[in-house]
Amino acid sequence: MSDCLFCKIIAGEIPSTKVYEDQDVVAFLDISPVNKGHTLVVPKSHAENFLVVSEDVSAKAFGAAQKVAKAVLAATGAHGFNLHVNNGHVSGQVVDHLHIHIIPRFEGDGLEHWPKMTYGSGEMWEVGEKIKKSINQRNDMPRDATL
Ligand code: AMP
Ligand code: ZN
Repeated sequence: MSDCLFCKIIAGEIPSTKVYEDQDVVAFLDISPVNKGHTLVVPKSHAENFLVVSEDVSAKAFGAAQKVAKAVLAATGAHGFNLHVNNGHVSGQVVDHLHIHIIPRFEGDGLEHWPKMTYGSGEMWEVGEKIKKSINQRNDMPRDATL
């Protein structure tokens, strides 16, 4: 995709601090890190998000993410990390080329988890049923799904 920022980084047209590369995946440091060492793992082939990427490419990206996460932990001395994928602009996705965030976490780093809701009476069951039904009806849906 000629106007995609991450395709340009992958092609070497825009500089990046690359920390990992294999045949299918690259990883480079996020330019505005949540914590230092925040790394993005990115499939080389353009796919807008997690819904439309092929399972094969997704598996390769998550396999690489596991390798990179271990290295990020070792290099930064982090005590843990968040693995995070934004999908769709409402979720905070800004770059429409699938990427996995690895965010190193440190004791007392001050980052807050998301606020939590409570379900009304019977609501949790209802939501679960809807999701189950949707999975049964759309087993072959994700290929062309859009957000
Ligand atoms: P997202 O909000 O999930 O789409 O994440 C996009 C991420 O890309 C953000 O965390 C940005 O800080 C990061 N980013 C934007 N431009 C660059 C760049 N040139 N090099 C590295 N990371 C970038
Ligand atoms: Zn792209």
